[in-house]
Amino acid sequence: MNRCIRRSAAALLATFFLPAAFAACDIEIAAGDNLAFDKNVIEVDAGCETITVTLTHTGTLPREAMGHNWVLSRTADYADLGTAGMSAGIEASYLPPGDERVIAATEVIGGGETAEVSFSLEGLDPEGDYTFFCSFPGHFAIMQGQFRIVDNG
Ligand code: ZN
Repeated sequence: MNRCIRRSAAALLATFFLPAAFAACDIEIAAGDNLAFDKNVIEVDAGCETITVTLTHTGTLPREAMGHNWVLSRTADYADLGTAGMSAGIEASYLPPGDERVIAATEVIGGGETAEVSFSLEGLDPEGDYTFFCSFPGHFAIMQGQFRIVDNG
């Protein structure tokens, strides 16, 4: 009994204190059958060697109808990328192929699917202004948020 209680307390501590104290290198984000990510801001630690973002589509619609992906770019580039990506097609994840403005991107997924992308922060400016978004046609204007690199020392 005591053990159970202690374990729950530890879980609570982890839930409430870990994200603030250390940085997240592994990010989970979800989106359903509406145009919304469940996060508006993602913070990662500047010290992370690798960032892994796992996107889960919690809806039921197929990717052709309500596909989502997770794309990272500089804030100055995301609207242009979103616009250019519309004509790139689903197999290209609605992104211009080989476009260097794309820092990281998952494939486009539908309901019940998950996708993952790992990347390094090398070359990114900790003071820089970055935006994550979904490049499915018509989604980027709403499905987007801030990506911040936080130096926790
Ligand atoms: Zn989307």
